[in-house]
Amino acid sequence: MAGVVIITGASSGIGAATARCLGADGWHVVAAARRADRLRDLVADIRAAGGSASAAAVDVTARADVVELVDAVVAERGSVDAFVANAGVMPLSRLDAGLVDEWDRMIDVNIRGLLHGIHAVLPHFRRRGAGHLVTVASIGAHEVSPTAAVYCGTKFAAWAITEGLRLESDSGIRVTTVSPGVVESELADTITDPTAAELMRTYRRAAIPPSAIGDAIAYALSQPAEVDVNEIVVRPVQQR
Ligand code: NDP
Repeated sequence: MAGVVIITGASSGIGAATARCLGADGWHVVAAARRADRLRDLVADIRAAGGSASAAAVDVTARADVVELVDAVVAERGSVDAFVANAGVMPLSRLDAGLVDEWDRMIDVNIRGLLHGIHAVLPHFRRRGAGHLVTVASIGAHEVSPTAAVYCGTKFAAWAITEGLRLESDSGIRVTTVSPGVVESELADTITDPTAAELMRTYRRAAIPPSAIGDAIAYALSQPAEVDVNEIVVRPVQQR
């Protein structure tokens, strides 16, 4: 077996595609998210394809629950070899729309959720002197656009936190940031603001399948122990 990987946000989109991809590559996949029914179906699919997987209903904004998940996986399977911090939400809006609760939601899931994952998994990585943290950031970690100020702020933060972890890591811990462009998923469904929703309909017209990001993550994870793929940006050809 390639190892044990926990993937947050595995109930749809990029997380689910990454789970299928890594399941096919011989990883034991722990698929984590809130929608347990979706996770059950995903795990059944991976097993039916000959892979190994289990599901964990977890809200990444609950720090204790993320710690409990990682500890339980280590207790049951002996180690966690990789953690893919992928869970995210994107309820876009202009700042003057004042959707403060949605800003808080993005900060909670996209930043705090990532930090909770790092906090939970780092002690295990350090104890073993090995482990691989992959953050799914975004093109929004590299550029800002109207209606995406807060979302991009959270993704700039995710980029910075992950790069900080890389700089602090020694003794065999690997760190990768993957920044997708427009990818088919349910991400835009979290938008409630009509102006932002209309803008996104045009912006998201050219999208690549989520398996393109799963493949990029699989590439980073499959490198020899001394090779750390620091960063990957994957966009549709049409995206500027
Ligand atoms: P989806 O909406 O399809 O997937 C988001 C996932 O995050 C779902 O599995 C959802 O599961 C999970 N999630 C949301 N909130 C929580 C929470 N509180 N606790 C646990 N899981 C949660 O979108 P994508 O697949 O596109 O998004 C995956 C990542 O990719 C995000 O970080 C996103 O920002 C990033 N990204 C996506 C791009 C795109 O174009 N699709 C472009 C750039 C970056 P559940 O609701 O079951 O909890």
